[in-house]
Amino acid sequence: MRPLLLLLLLSLSFAQRYPEHVKETLRRITDRLYGVFGVYEQVSYENRGFISNAYFYVADDGVLVVDALSTYKLGKELLETIRGITDKPVRFLVITHYHTDHFYGAKALKEAGAEVIAHENAYEYLSDPSSYNFFLARKKILGEHMEGTELTPPSLTLKDSLNVYMREGEGLKRFEVMHLCEGHTPSDVVVFLPEERILISGDLVFDGRLPFLGSGNSRSWLVCLEKIRELRPRMLLPGHGEPMLTKEQALRAIEQTEKYIRELRSAVKKLIQEGCDVECVRERINEVMLSVDPSYAQIPVFFSVNPVNAYYVYFEIENELLMEE
Ligand SMILES: [Zn+2]
Repeated sequence: MRPLLLLLLLSLSFAQRYPEHVKETLRRITDRLYGVFGVYEQVSYENRGFISNAYFYVADDGVLVVDALSTYKLGKELLETIRGITDKPVRFLVITHYHTDHFYGAKALKEAGAEVIAHENAYEYLSDPSSYNFFLARKKILGEHMEGTELTPPSLTLKDSLNVYMREGEGLKRFEVMHLCEGHTPSDVVVFLPEERILISGDLVFDGRLPFLGSGNSRSWLVCLEKIRELRPRMLLPGHGEPMLTKEQALRAIEQTEKYIRELRSAVKKLIQEGCDVECVRERINEVMLSVDPSYAQIPVFFSVNPVNAYYVYFEIENELLMEE
């Protein structure tokens, strides 16, 4: 009986276990900066939509939060997690971009008194009928986990940049909220802490994974990565996956993201110039990219996400080629 029991216990411990509360994933990054970390997966009923990260900074006169997770319930759990650390008021919530998994929890933080800061283009997203269709699609997957979730608009918007100041000791702490490009989405912003050179990057930088190119612009994204590199971040805190806690790790992730986008763009361009239409690009793109760099095969979801990215980039490149003529 014993070996059987052991086997049973072993297989149970290998089964995917999802956090029951956001606070289980809490990590302290610096003295005052914390993060919670979703699983690196697509949204599913089982993971409750907890697939993205959020961060919060505890200043003397309140808390600044970056991103609000995927549902109102997760937003509430994020708030409870913050309450486990401090009872200071939650004053600001910065949304790095209007994608479901980064802003659907915003209502919970707004109810707690937070000013919701995002890029002005968030209003474009919210007024587009597709934003409501995404909402319905999420409800279909997440069911009761979506209870209470609403499309919360920002209360403060920026176009290029906005500084938030909070009290710290004798002085003021500055948070630079910057719109560097319309790479991942038209509403991309990053949050930079200049003294520590910590960058909270939303979905603009990926470490060992594939970025999603379906709702922004790949050429603009490359501009963004250049600007991010110029900021010389010592730490880079992404919207998904593990935090990059050294400048070497941050730089490597910036370079990897840049390399993928560059190589995808030139592979799509090459196929178009060979006379490929969009379907043909979608079919052949993996083979072309793997001939450029076989290590792409090691990246999770490369085989499914790469053709989708190629589909969107096809229309961008086609437009660029038309403009050149
Ligand atoms: Zn995103």
